[in-house]
Amino acid sequence: MSKSLQAIRGMNDILPGQTPIWRYLETTFAQLLDGYGYSEIRLPILEFTDLFARGIGEGTDVVDKEMYTFLDRNEESLTLRPEGTAGCVRAVLEHGLSGGGQVQKLWYTGPMFRYEKPQKGRYRQFHQIGVEVFNQPGPDIDAELIVLTARLWKRLGLADAVTLQLNSLGSSEARAEYRDALVAYLRERFDQLDEDSQRRLTTNPLRILDSKNAQTQALLVGAPTLSDYLDEASREHFEGLKARLDAVGIAYQINPKLVRGLDYYGRTVFEWVTDKLGAQGTVCAGGRYDGLVGQFGGKPTPGVGFAMGVERLVLLLETLALVPEALSPAPHAYICAFGEAAELAALELAERLRDRVPGLRLLVNGGGGSFKSQFKKADKSGARFALILGEDELASRVVGCKPLRDDGEQQNIAWDALAEHLAACVEQA
Ligand code: ATP
Ligand code: MG
Repeated sequence: MSKSLQAIRGMNDILPGQTPIWRYLETTFAQLLDGYGYSEIRLPILEFTDLFARGIGEGTDVVDKEMYTFLDRNEESLTLRPEGTAGCVRAVLEHGLSGGGQVQKLWYTGPMFRYEKPQKGRYRQFHQIGVEVFNQPGPDIDAELIVLTARLWKRLGLADAVTLQLNSLGSSEARAEYRDALVAYLRERFDQLDEDSQRRLTTNPLRILDSKNAQTQALLVGAPTLSDYLDEASREHFEGLKARLDAVGIAYQINPKLVRGLDYYGRTVFEWVTDKLGAQGTVCAGGRYDGLVGQFGGKPTPGVGFAMGVERLVLLLETLALVPEALSPAPHAYICAFGEAAELAALELAERLRDRVPGLRLLVNGGGGSFKSQFKKADKSGARFALILGEDELASRVVGCKPLRDDGEQQNIAWDALAEHLAACVEQA
């Protein structure tokens, strides 16, 4: 097949067989967030490149290697969003949503774009569901974000499949001090570092902590740890978070090497990880970014949020066979019509039934066909009833109603009584 007729590598079609599970995830999440008082925000997919360069930070993988950046017709550098936080902060500032210390609890969902090596659980267009909260400085809101994700896992049946990792990155001063200590320690061992880590030693040394290289990890065993450098306020904040998680019985592992890939985080960072998806095990990641709004030129505004990878959650639900069966429900009825007059009457009847029976799933046979072939299609659709409309039925204004899922008798039902009959059927389902 010619290349132009193929999707771009790492960008996937989500086919009809899969959309029900996507909708299930999205509606489960939206309902859950409603219950905690969060509001949806919808953001553009394109932003000025500078927003991400400044927000996410030079020296991060995302900005240095993964952005889809191009000049538009006006020679302006634009970027397909690689994540949602920067755009959300931009919108909040632009519309004054966080002014006067207003609390904002927002969520969004949609595609993100990163030029990565495509593999299972890692794509170039992928989807996140994210949450951002503004003007809530305390650990109570960090806890709420974790608590509500835990509730989501429970609703999806994933509670036993994921574990929570937690760390505190401290204040930016504490981080700077720690960075110097880490760099000094690693400089002495520069030759033993892997190439990526050698480069990161100047660009983003904290990222070395989550290097996958075994020799580098071995070197890090004796390295200074971030927790020894935490400032008092951050330590208290972290204790406050842990106390709340303990109070609601959410288990966590402290991971002193959890640093996250984006520059804007400080204090709390967390990840929900699973061991069921191989290397791409992080399904949800987030943290606090009290400095980001100020960095964009706004009044200093506390912020905290997370994003989860929808593809990874879909994979996880499929891997663990946790996809509910009733996601694509069968139609209640399927109308078979024979002859042109009956076809017209069927269309009219169907529309009247849709007016009168909320929630009705009704198919009307398309393209005519013999009794046998229409009946076969009705059966294959999974409908509970075939509604038969031929010349005789037309003349006496009835339909033949044949149960397809049990061996009840076919009976004639008057058109006027049909809505009631189907409403009962919708209610039962
Ligand atoms: P990773 O370490 O897996 O690269 P990340 O730290 O780059 O993740 P974040 O920027 O924190 O990821 O994004 C939040 C979540 O979005 C991730 O935990 C993951 O579930 C999902 N995600 C990130 N990048 C991709 C991708 N390329 N394809 C699919 N999902 C992704
Ligand atoms: Mg990444």
